[in-house]
Amino acid sequence: MAGWGVSTCSPDETRQLGRALGQIIRQPMVVLLSGDLGAGKTCFTQGMARGLGIPEQEPIVSPTYTLMNPYRGRLELFHFDLYRLPEGEDLAELGLEEYLPGPGVAVVEWAERFPGLAREYLAVTILHQEPETRSFTFHASGSVAAKVLENLKENWSRREPDNVRI
Ligand code: ADP
Ligand code: MG
Repeated sequence: MAGWGVSTCSPDETRQLGRALGQIIRQPMVVLLSGDLGAGKTCFTQGMARGLGIPEQEPIVSPTYTLMNPYRGRLELFHFDLYRLPEGEDLAELGLEEYLPGPGVAVVEWAERFPGLAREYLAVTILHQEPETRSFTFHASGSVAAKVLENLKENWSRREPDNVRI
C-alpha cells in the first residue's frame, strides 16, 4: 500500500489540496475520508468537487441527513456522510454498494465507522492539530488509487515553490 502525508494551514489550503486531487481523477473511484467532527472532511470534499468540474456556484454541503448528495461535473460525484448511520447497519440493504465503486467518484465521510467499504480506494485520514492546521495521511489500495496518489504527490510538490516567500 502506497502512502503519503502532508499538512495544510487553512481551510483554503485544504480546499486546494482537495481540488488538486479532484483534477487528477479521470475515472470512477472511491475516496474514503476519516477524521473527527471538524477535521475538514467536508472542506476537502468541496475542493475535490471543484477539481472534478462541479461549478463554483453549486454549494457542497454535508449530506449528514440525506446520506448522499450527487453532483454532476466532469465525472459524477457522490458525496456520502455515514455519521448518522448506526454502526453495523447493512450498507448493501441501503443501496450503498452500487457506488463503491460505481458510475462516479464516491467520497465517503466517516468511512472508518464501516471498515471494508471497498476493496480498492484512496483512504484519507485527517487529524485536527492546531486550530488551523490539519494533517492528511493518504493510503492507496489498488492500481488506480496508487496512480492518482502518485500524481497528487507530484503536483502538490510542484506547487510548493509558489508559496515560498522571498
Ligand atoms: P468535517 O466534515 O470533518 O466535520 P468540516 O470540513 O465541516 O469538517 O469543518 C472543518 C472546520 O475546521 C471548518 O470550520 C474550517 O473552517 C475549520 N478549519 C480550520 N483550519 C482548517 C484546515 N487547515 N483545513 C480544513 N478545515 C479547517
Ligand atoms: Mg462533514
